[in-house]
Amino acid sequence: MYRKGQYTELVCLECGDVFPIYRRNGRAKQVGHIKHLYCPICLKETAHYEVKDADVFLWKYEYADFEDVCEEAKLAVDLLVERKKKLVRKRD
Ligand SMILES: [Zn+2]
Repeated sequence: MYRKGQYTELVCLECGDVFPIYRRNGRAKQVGHIKHLYCPICLKETAHYEVKDADVFLWKYEYADFEDVCEEAKLAVDLLVERKKKLVRKRD
């Protein structure tokens, strides 16, 4: 099937929820792009950190050396680690 775009994931920097959004090709942003979106969990507009794929992002950065990574990236990783713990607990 011909695909005009791709899904990318954004993490709410206040509650850690992950939102997939669809972007048309040519408009893809880099990992680390900050976008302000309405968060249905926080019930307000919050900063969202673009990770493209939350699992890949976490795999890359969970145990990475953070010396040269910005504050938002650290926050996004912390939130995703917490989210992962919650998902694991739910499966029990
Ligand atoms: Zn939120």
